[in-house]
Amino acid sequence: MQTLVTGGGGFIGSHLADFLLDETGDSILLLDDFSTGQRDNVAHLVDQDRVELIEGDVTDDETVTELVTHSDRVFHLAAAVGVQRIVDQPLQSMRTNLVGTENVLDAAAEDGTPVFLASSSELYGKSEDVPFAESDDRILGPTSALRWSYASAKAIDESLALAYHRDRDLPVAVGRYFNIVGPRQTGQYGMVIPTFVEQALDDKPLTVYGDGTQTRSFTHVADAVEATYELLTTPAAHGEVVNIGAPEPTTINALAERVVELTNSNSEITHVPYEEAYDEDFEEPQQREPDVSKLEATLGWHPSTDLDRILEDIIDERTEAVVAE
Ligand code: NAD
Repeated sequence: MQTLVTGGGGFIGSHLADFLLDETGDSILLLDDFSTGQRDNVAHLVDQDRVELIEGDVTDDETVTELVTHSDRVFHLAAAVGVQRIVDQPLQSMRTNLVGTENVLDAAAEDGTPVFLASSSELYGKSEDVPFAESDDRILGPTSALRWSYASAKAIDESLALAYHRDRDLPVAVGRYFNIVGPRQTGQYGMVIPTFVEQALDDKPLTVYGDGTQTRSFTHVADAVEATYELLTTPAAHGEVVNIGAPEPTTINALAERVVELTNSNSEITHVPYEEAYDEDFEEPQQREPDVSKLEATLGWHPSTDLDRILEDIIDERTEAVVAE
């Protein structure tokens, strides 16, 4: 079986490639333009006989059609991600997230090739009605606040996927990721845990945006990858949108304190107003917590790796990297 992973050089995509290599006999095509992905993520994979890395752009229709045509299933993870990048490059981000997805779905519909589409808990927007279930209403801010363009694009992606399922019988499963974290994630684009860990290991102040009472639910990438694979390979998940997350929210203040403890750091925790970190129109959702009953009903399990184990994995990776330098 030939499997295509778009965004295969990225954080989740490279872990998914590891999983496919270890757990299946698939030949794996990885498509990435390395805009946010790192070559280091796949350096251990590119020499494998069963892996081929293609440097290309998901907005390039010809490239995508060629790769999808030669694939038996597709995990579509390539996207412009990270609040900072969305705010800094809104046009390019939207093109990637809209045109890229349409290219993948359109090519897959030709032969009915199964697709997994990576979506996001950003879609729930500013809703405070936690935990968030897939059928809940979404509350997004104005289009002038650029961060919401990511949620809007992912929502259109989901609607497109469901339309391809209904009108063209495309087997497509949509997974809404809730703060997936783990080794290889970079803090460069505004991801909180790698940023805190790097700050703590350097004994620099941990920068909490806002008052730190906002909550997030963190999910280990190993759990997310397994759920991703199982959703695509479970026919009951086709034509469905399913939350992928661990239902244990933590405040950002508590997260910062735990990172300082686990790294034995001398860092202080400081609070930075959102307007200083981004711009004055910036809005940040207060709460994020998945309702995992649909995931549980579909797969029979849900992610449960606890936060300490997640943090320890990330801290170990960073510490080893420093020792190796
Ligand atoms: P990532 O940035 O590591 O992965 C995205 C990958 O897509 C990168 O390798 C990047 O280089 C690649 N890419 C971007 N534009 C491209 C283009 N035009 N052509 C080809 N490749 C391109 O981030 P990630 O966290 O691994 O995200 C993977 C997917 O999961 C994305 O679709 C993202 O929206 C979604 N997601 C992630 C999270 C999370 O917590 N990590 C949460 C919600 C949704």
